[in-house]
Amino acid sequence: MNLDERNLLYRGKAKDVYQTSHPKQVLVKFRDDITAGDGEKKEVMSLKGYYNSLISAKLFELLEDAGIKTQYIDLPEPGLMLSHKLNMIPLEVITRNIAAGSLLRKYPFQEGQLFDPPIIQMDYKNDEYHDPMLNEDIILALELASVQDLETIREITLQINAVLKNFLEDRGLIFPDFKIEFGRDSDGNIVLGDEISPDTCRFWDSETCDILDKDLFRKGESGVIEAYQKVANIILDEEDKERWNLNF
Ligand code: UDP
Repeated sequence: MNLDERNLLYRGKAKDVYQTSHPKQVLVKFRDDITAGDGEKKEVMSLKGYYNSLISAKLFELLEDAGIKTQYIDLPEPGLMLSHKLNMIPLEVITRNIAAGSLLRKYPFQEGQLFDPPIIQMDYKNDEYHDPMLNEDIILALELASVQDLETIREITLQINAVLKNFLEDRGLIFPDFKIEFGRDSDGNIVLGDEISPDTCRFWDSETCDILDKDLFRKGESGVIEAYQKVANIILDEEDKERWNLNF
């Protein structure tokens, strides 16, 4: 599909959003750019957008089947997602089932410590301020969301975690943590947006404990795209591969 640059609404670090002829629908282009550390570390990794779009589409479909509202409408071709247009809320909603990453750098948790119930953390999506962690008072003072919105976001996030964790564990993946973002649709409903992919989640192989996500890139290790392909292979069924004409 040829995207007209005149319809570009927003260019993010890894995705572009284009207006379609339908006022309430956008096309999200998953790019091959990969970044870490507030965008300081940057590379282009061929096929990254392709795998991330497929993984996100499959996981959004799974959530829709479980009754959770998402931006997803269709993936007309790998790399390009037709989505409901949302007014995004600048919150990075992080759910943690296992202590990893920045949590270990900032607090005296033990590596691998389990959280049940999971920890939900909200960061301010703002590179200039380095995505600082928020609390409810700061969110309200910045007018990012209301008390009711926060309650809704927490509730939906816990449901999302339960659905994804069950699915991934069944397929041999450990799901230590992930980041999601929400927006409001034209009726004011809070809807899951953005993506769910190895760029935004930690995935570990439950047999080998191999890392299968962006941590490989953050650490400067090799095999990043092979890991993303492996996650796609684990998550997609044969019928998904036929539907999207995939040959990996
Ligand atoms: N995450 C993300 N975008 C961010 C920060 C974190 O998608 O800007 C994801 C990250 O991939 C991980 C989870 O949120 O799955 C928790 O990340 P953490 O706070 O541990 O930060 P990190 O160690 O990745 O810097």
